[in-house]
Order: sequence, then structure tokens, then C-alpha cells
Amino acid sequence: MPARLLLVFPCYNESEILPEVLPKIFDYFENLVASKNISEKSRICFVDDGSIDNTWQLISKIDKPYVNAIKLSTNFGHQKALLAGLETFRDKFDVYITMDVDLQDDINVIKQMLDAYFKGNNIVYGVREDRSTDTVFKKTTAQLFYKLMNFLGVKIIFNHADFRLIDNKALNFFLAYKESHLFLRAIFPNIGLQSTKVYYKRLKRVKGNSKYPFKKMLAFAWDGITSFSAKPLKMVLYFGVFSLIISLILIIWASVQLLLGNTITGWFSIIILIIFFGGSQLFALGIIGEYIGKIFIETKKRPRYLIDKIIEK
Ligand code: UDP
Ligand code: MG
Repeated sequence: MPARLLLVFPCYNESEILPEVLPKIFDYFENLVASKNISEKSRICFVDDGSIDNTWQLISKIDKPYVNAIKLSTNFGHQKALLAGLETFRDKFDVYITMDVDLQDDINVIKQMLDAYFKGNNIVYGVREDRSTDTVFKKTTAQLFYKLMNFLGVKIIFNHADFRLIDNKALNFFLAYKESHLFLRAIFPNIGLQSTKVYYKRLKRVKGNSKYPFKKMLAFAWDGITSFSAKPLKMVLYFGVFSLIISLILIIWASVQLLLGNTITGWFSIIILIIFFGGSQLFALGIIGEYIGKIFIETKKRPRYLIDKIIEK
């Protein structure tokens, strides 16, 4: 029996690219149904993540019997938009696929993902073959990030982002993770079950801008490591780093003074100890602060997303 598929697309200020990608998405989806790869009960769900352009007007007017739409009350972020789409339809489908609406991830790979699901996999990861469409900068920072995650012992799949298939069991396992700071690509490799990878070439965004400028990307990566942070505490960390750098400069300066004989006995060692330990304590406090900030946010147990409107067919 063909599987009931839910295809989830998070959309944030995507009105520019939607008219271009929608026909491609619908064509592909209708073909999957016609070729009996997926059941007629399959659906597409667009999640408007609090866009401030006319994304909602566009998706709420789509006249297709298989298109659902969710409007979040404000911008909760990519990960929570995915969560909203998945959680709303839990247990109503056999398989769920999430992908970016800009179709940078190759939609044609869905067929392979479904094949892998039928072979008994609960999770199928879409993995980028290479990073040739990335800037050198993004390539290098991404590589550094994966290395760092590895070093810190976080299970993560190299070159996999949020293009993945999960079955209903994997979805329910994932929904047992209640943290408000979500980093899906690190959660799924932790839930166990059977998984595999399919490879694809990532394309360039054809219209509109990336919603992940460098600063946001950095923040997302940091979140992946600590799960969350509180800004004032982060400032302490920055100050710690700053004073460490100053202390290193001062150590060099003090060393020169020592060599020149401009010091009295004992002065050098005292000044170095004060400077170095002052800086490193502040640095350490900053890191601890990051985790306290995370606990602070998690204990509030605030809703992870709020749904303003749903269109369900
Ligand atoms: N997105 C979202 N909420 C946000 C930011 C992004 O729902 O706050 C969506 C966006 O519309 C897109 C996907 O997440 O479908 C990935 O964003 P983008 O293509 O800008 O990221 P990039 O491909 O540049 O990493
Ligand atoms: Mg993109």
C-alpha cells in the first residue's frame, strides 16, 4: 500500500520565491501520487513562520485539494516552524519529509527517500554531496562547525541539515524531546531506530535572500552546542575573551619590562597572575553563564510555537 506522506515546508518571508517554486512542488507531488509512490491521502503543509510580507496570502489561497497551511502567530524560527508542522499532523501520516521551500535541496531525491523508507528505514537523511555552491567562507566555517561538534561529542551527520524523511514512529520519538531550544539535526541521530542517507547536490537559491545571514548562522551553531543562551550572560563571556586578549598583550609588555630590568623583584609574577587569572575566570564564568541562561529559559516551559490559523484538507 502506498504511504501517506506529509511534506512540510517552513516559509519565512518567501513571497518572492513562492510563485517560482510552487508549480515545481505541485508537479512533483502530483507525479508521486499518479505513479502510486504515495497515497492519495498525502498532503503538503506550508508553515508560515510569522512572515511580514504576503507569504500567508499566497499560501492560504492555494487552490489544491492536497495543500494544508499553518500560520504561526509570530516568527518562531525555522526549527520551531518544522516542529509546528510535524506535531500538528502527528499520527495522521505514515511518513513526513521536511525541506526548505526555496528548493535548494533537490526535490527529486524524495523518490529515493521513499524507497529507503520502504526498505525499512525509520529515518532517511538528505546529505549534500559537496559544497560547491557555497562560498569559500561558508564552506570553511561549516567544516569547522562539524569538527567542533564532533570534538564536543555531539552526534551529528556531516553535511546534513533539515532535509529528511521520518516515519511516524521516529516522529513520536522526536516529540518526546521537550526542550524549547531545538536543534533537530542533532536530535534525530540521538533517537536511535534504523536510518540511512541519500545524497544530492544542493543548488543555489534562485530568488529571495537566505534567512540565515552569518550572524544568525553563528547563533544557530552556538545553540546547537549549548542549546541556548541569554544575552547578558553572553556579554560576560565576550568581556572575558576581551580581557584574556588584553592580558596576553600585557604579559608580553611585562616580559619586555623584565628583560629591560625595569622591574622590582616579585612584581612580574604578581602582575601576570592577576591579569591571567582575572581574564580566564571571567571567560569561564561566561561559559557557565551560557548554560545557566539555557536552564533559565527551559524552566519557563513556554510554548515552543503558537498557531494563529490552520487550513486543513
Ligand atoms: N525559515 C523559517 N523561519 C526563519 C528562517 C527561515 O521558517 O526564521 C525557513 C525559510 O523560509 C526556508 C528555510 O527555513 O524555507 C531555510 O531558510 P534559508 O533558505 O533562508 O536558509 P539557507 O538555505 O540560506 O541556509
Ligand atoms: Mg535556502
